[in-house]
Amino acid sequence: MKNTRSTQDYVNLDKQLLWHPYTSMSQPTPHYLVEKADGCQITLSDGRTLVDGMSSWWSVIHGYNHPTINAAIEKQITQFSHVMFGGFTHKPAIELAEKLINITHRDLQRVFFSDSGSVSVEVALKMAIQYWNTQGKAEKQFFITPKSGYHGDTFAAMSVCDPENGMHNLFSDALTQQFFVSPPPTGFDEPVKTDYLNEIRRSFQQNHQRIAGFIIEPVVQNAGGMRFYNPAYLNRIRELCDEFDILLIFDEIATGFGRTGKLFATDHTDICPDIMCVGKALTGGYMTLAATLTNDRVALGISHEGGVFMHGPTFMGNPLACSAANASLTLLSQYEIPKKISQLENWMKETLAQCEALEQVQDVRCLGGIGVVELKNAVNLHQIQPKFVELGVWVRPFGKLIYLMPPYVISKDQIQKLGNAIYKVASEL
Ligand code: PMP
Repeated sequence: MKNTRSTQDYVNLDKQLLWHPYTSMSQPTPHYLVEKADGCQITLSDGRTLVDGMSSWWSVIHGYNHPTINAAIEKQITQFSHVMFGGFTHKPAIELAEKLINITHRDLQRVFFSDSGSVSVEVALKMAIQYWNTQGKAEKQFFITPKSGYHGDTFAAMSVCDPENGMHNLFSDALTQQFFVSPPPTGFDEPVKTDYLNEIRRSFQQNHQRIAGFIIEPVVQNAGGMRFYNPAYLNRIRELCDEFDILLIFDEIATGFGRTGKLFATDHTDICPDIMCVGKALTGGYMTLAATLTNDRVALGISHEGGVFMHGPTFMGNPLACSAANASLTLLSQYEIPKKISQLENWMKETLAQCEALEQVQDVRCLGGIGVVELKNAVNLHQIQPKFVELGVWVRPFGKLIYLMPPYVISKDQIQKLGNAIYKVASEL
């Protein structure tokens, strides 16, 4: 039977049936029906095309519909799309684990695959608690984390997100009460402030007996405000963690795979976390997959006397997702990351600089593949989203932040189009 539904029919059905991220069922925000996406361009079903400035929440780093990743998935699908990971294993997962271990710090040697960034954070927190349990320190059940952090939407992940920024405070009574310190002082090149490290030291001193780990987004606090900070803080935090028997957990879900100008944000430091989460761009944004990496100390500690790690999702190590990730990492290894991303950074700096003159703008900053225009006031997303679409770009601001995290394969012209659209929309606020 011929499908006679119009674009409007689909949009109406969507409104009636579907929840979208952080939206209301009674007052839904507009959602645009996508027909196809290719390279850095998204085509809507009404024929309009948009230059993508978001990489679909920072994941589609090689652009859409990439022939290499398509081919990898197609090849795998003819073999098998999924098998349970309990009792079975497969080459895509083994090869991906090997690749991840080869491109991350040499101390990270063991990999746990899960379905999403939030779940990989749950896994990291559970690893830390289980590790201390086997060390005879079962009272180490809590975490310290800086405010303005974001680690996901599941319960344990929410408990280590910023406690006040509104995203999760509705649930605060239902969450484990964790320990918070101030966010790292901003500025990638700003000198380290000893006061800040002293604050962390005090919190460690007071609470370390109950603390399993310190969790932080390295170098950039992303959804909590696109805040860049000096990586040297992380070197010092590592020392403090060692001094007070606290595991260091890096959430590289947003920063991993080149976004900050190095392959991992950790590579801006001299140190290695005990546990590291990756997700988002892992599969080149093709499908959901995340990994929690750890060192031998934690992995073998948990496994002391044959102890098992208590987690095992149904779709653990999904072969299609692993194949996409393997292809994505092969593509990534063909770029010269620092060079490619610093070119992207320069293009964004050039075009976003025009926004500095606007009275509506508080700050313009770029780091690697992240370009941020921070406004003085929060934007009304309902009002400004259609304006970006009219200008032929896909930019989705939040709070006071209009930002770009484009695919790495974007052209200079496309970046300029994005920058000009941001300038125009911001100037009309
Ligand atoms: N950690 C960080 C740093 C993130 O940016 C996000 C997602 N924005 C998450 C965790 C959660 O990942 P997911 O949405 O895949 O669950």
